[in-house]
Amino acid sequence: MLDRSHPGPLILTLPGGPRPGLCTDCGVSRLGDGRACGRACQFIAPDYPALETAVHGRTANPDTDEAFFGVTHTMLRARLSPPAPGAQWTGITTTLAAELLRQGLVDAVLTVLPDPSDRWKPLPAIITRPEDMAQARGMRMGWAPTLALLEPARAAGHTRLAMIGIPCQTYALRALEAELGLDALYIIGTPCSDNTTTQNFHTFLNLIDKAPETISYLEFRADFRVELRFDDGRKPRFIPFLQLPISQLPPDFFPMTCKTCVDYTNRLADITVGYMGGDGDQWVIARNARGAAMLALVAPHLTTAPLTSSGKRDAAVRGFLENTARAAGGLPLRRMPDWLRPLVSLLQTRFGPKGLEFARTRVEMKAIETILHLRRAHPARMKNMIPDHVWRVAARYGLTPTPDEKRPAQTPPSDASGGSI
Ligand SMILES: Cc1cc2nc3c(=O)[nH]c(=O)nc-3n(C[C@H](O)[C@H](O)[C@H](O)COP(=O)(O)OP(=O)(O)OC[C@H]3O[C@@H](n4cnc5c(N)ncnc54)[C@H](O)[C@@H]3O)c2cc1C
Ligand code: SF4
Ligand code: SF4
Repeated sequence: MLDRSHPGPLILTLPGGPRPGLCTDCGVSRLGDGRACGRACQFIAPDYPALETAVHGRTANPDTDEAFFGVTHTMLRARLSPPAPGAQWTGITTTLAAELLRQGLVDAVLTVLPDPSDRWKPLPAIITRPEDMAQARGMRMGWAPTLALLEPARAAGHTRLAMIGIPCQTYALRALEAELGLDALYIIGTPCSDNTTTQNFHTFLNLIDKAPETISYLEFRADFRVELRFDDGRKPRFIPFLQLPISQLPPDFFPMTCKTCVDYTNRLADITVGYMGGDGDQWVIARNARGAAMLALVAPHLTTAPLTSSGKRDAAVRGFLENTARAAGGLPLRRMPDWLRPLVSLLQTRFGPKGLEFARTRVEMKAIETILHLRRAHPARMKNMIPDHVWRVAARYGLTPTPDEKRPAQTPPSDASGGSI
């Protein structure tokens, strides 16, 4: 039953922290089963084909855009009308979750709120009232142990759950789903890339604005600019990517986990809500019948437009590959002279890849980054950790696995362990 008497989101202090090595502290290690990470972790031996089949009924078609974006039932360019105040884009994500609660389809939503002591820090919370979803709107930078909420949710008697999660959280939840004994599970995913610790993110904010504490919103937009909004009355600022102070960031600014992540588009969510392929609007991928049913719940509040795709990604991706290869090899990035940056930024905005071509660009870049960084930092992990979908999109740029880097199809991973939570 939906408990409408609860006073608001349940925020819990969850003991524990990231495990040594590649770990984004998704919360599984805090569940009290020391072996659960071996079965659940995206960074150990992910099996996307098996989980795609279990969740969506089939694997992604490698000959279509599913090679980039994963299994797709319906793909839309859409915005919520009117946009939800405080949302990262227009609020489709939190509205989907609110609607699941409103319709009584789930008892609780696992998600993150802004930490009261630092608005950029994600704080895991269990939400049971639709009106409380508004508090979760917006993007935080950092990792949150959202899956550690599975135990308190079970203790509270919630057996029909939704989770709003980033891909590494979704993977772990899907891998454990069968052993959780839930009556229903809905996963609303967002794409995710270039995440870092909240502490590191503050270093970045300090470099890009003279009053970083007043920045209330930040987004890496699909028009190659970062948008900043402020709560001190200033007008929004738009900074071209090329003019960001990336070279002033410490080399470990982006953690190895997020440089070697194998899923950009949240391939195992029932529905993915992002912006990359939206050409200025949001980009929604319902992946299966459950995702399509969720989309139908909010359809009356959506304004849709045809998806677009224009420009060519090859030059941008090849330039990225060259620079990433240098960085992964410890060499300084090839820097563009300052005088040339405004011109190149303008050309990027006018003629760069847009719409779905922009989304393909970003997915390819992420695949390249994963392969090159693992090759340098963790070559022994490559064969268990890199799924075929990553190799497939990188092949176009000559990145193919050596015999040591790829596991023969369907061989069980060497270091996963059994058991249940
Ligand atoms: C670190 C990060 C990187 C991202 N990178 C991309 C990208 O490259 N391309 C792209 O298309 N989209 C990306 N997204 C998703 C994008 O920022 C929006 O969240 C998405 O478009 C949904 O917008 P919305 O208005 O529907 O969300 P809202 O309705 O505002 O809801 C956002 C939801 O995301 C949750 N959330 C916020 N921060 C985190 C966090 N750190 N961890 C887990 N959950 C969180 C909130 O709790 C809320 O439930 C990223 C998100 C994050 C957190
Ligand atoms: S499953 Fe989660 S907690 Fe465990 S190692 Fe992986 S990211 Fe860390
Ligand atoms: S980039 Fe990948 S590993 Fe890093 S937080 Fe996002 S989904 Fe997790």
